[in-house]
Amino acid sequence: MSRPVIPHPVYRPYSLRTIDKLPQFSALSEDERFSIRVVAQVFPFRLNPYVADQLIDWQRIPDDPIYQLTVPQRGMLRPHNFQRIADLLLRDAPAAEVHSVVSEIRSDLNPNPAGQVELNVPWFGGQRLEGMQHKYRETVLFFPQSGQTCHAYCTFCFRWPQFLTDGEVRFSAADSEQLLWYLAAHPEVTDLLVTGGDPLVMSTAALERYLTPVLEAQNIGIQTIRIGTKSLGYWPYRFLTDKDADELLRLFERIVARGFHLAIMAHFNHTRELETPIVRQAIKRIRATGAEIRSQSPLVRHINDVAGIWREMWNLQVSLGIIPYYLFVERNTGASRYFQVPLAQAWEIYRAAMTSVSGLGRTARGPSMSAAPGKIEIQGVTEIRGEKVFVLRMIQGRNPEWVQRPFFARFDPDAAWLTDLKPAFGEEEFFFSAEMRALATAARRRQ
Ligand SMILES: *Cc1c(COP(=O)(O)O)cnc(C)c1O
Ligand code: SF4
Repeated sequence: MSRPVIPHPVYRPYSLRTIDKLPQFSALSEDERFSIRVVAQVFPFRLNPYVADQLIDWQRIPDDPIYQLTVPQRGMLRPHNFQRIADLLLRDAPAAEVHSVVSEIRSDLNPNPAGQVELNVPWFGGQRLEGMQHKYRETVLFFPQSGQTCHAYCTFCFRWPQFLTDGEVRFSAADSEQLLWYLAAHPEVTDLLVTGGDPLVMSTAALERYLTPVLEAQNIGIQTIRIGTKSLGYWPYRFLTDKDADELLRLFERIVARGFHLAIMAHFNHTRELETPIVRQAIKRIRATGAEIRSQSPLVRHINDVAGIWREMWNLQVSLGIIPYYLFVERNTGASRYFQVPLAQAWEIYRAAMTSVSGLGRTARGPSMSAAPGKIEIQGVTEIRGEKVFVLRMIQGRNPEWVQRPFFARFDPDAAWLTDLKPAFGEEEFFFSAEMRALATAARRRQ
């Protein structure tokens, strides 16, 4: 593969400590810089020169969607929490004092949504396999240890606790030995989803060390390897000019040549991420390896809560050979108070966007909530026997028997997550509720 002629930037992200060196940052108002400092005490912050120079439109601060996506915003904290931290910083409080307030605020922000730790981490031979999650029968998530950061951090990210150095809620695996045992014992698992963070922050050599045993194993059922990544959106140089970019593409070719379906699960939150010449070249190079690129993103207030953005995003993706896959509902964690969009509105946006793209753009499923029982899709809002309801179904279920069964919740214009919904027609609970309780009790006993 020939290497395109483009500049070779070195990946050197800005953190809270070094952000003053970013020229665009020093041009912000004193007030704006201070609120970034305050909010970044609670949420992880990382910005790289590609995002700063090529994606953010600094003329449109603070409304610019990519600015909202990567730079901490004042509204992400409740006003009284913002004030508490601001006061501490203004009086130069000792680090330990700031830390204790920050920890208290974080623990109120549902750092472990949808029972990920208790319910998804599999057990094998009497041990918890910390670097994995197995929730849906066919798919195992794998969290390689050195892939637990990202090229920049999204302000809305549900994995925010993964990026805090003091978090105990970290998933990560040092190698793939346990993964291989587990897959051998579970031949029903066809999909391995390598995730993080972003596994493509790893060197190609590290990724290869994790994946080679999977490629060579004779006793497992894996057909598809998915790699979840934001690197196309945040650092497309990963596929072009990083020093092991060519090796990465060769690894993709090797995976495909071995007969696996390789799917690059790309997060794109906004059309702008698909517009630079660099990302276009990266997409071409990946597709030339035989890998598929699928796209997914949550619907996030202040960033992409407009049908036109989704229409354009799906159209652009189809024209670039990317398959639209998921539109997620923003999860009920972290700064969701600032980013969440009510389910009714999310469905209106999804529907409006769907009606205005061709069939090839309509492969995006959603709006989907990755909730404790499964991926729950809002199919619509309608009226049945005089009651206004949400029509719902599971795209994925913790119990595969739950999948694709329609169910109903009372309409509530403000509901933004499954936990805000009540069953329709006077029923006590949803059809899966009793079984979910039993699963949770069993999981607690096992801990
Ligand atoms: C979304 C998700 C998957 C993948 O589901 P698909 O419908 O196959 O894309 C697997 N595991 C978990 C925990 C997930 O949230
Ligand atoms: S790239 Fe993905 S995992 Fe990383 S911060 Fe953004 S949403 Fe979170």
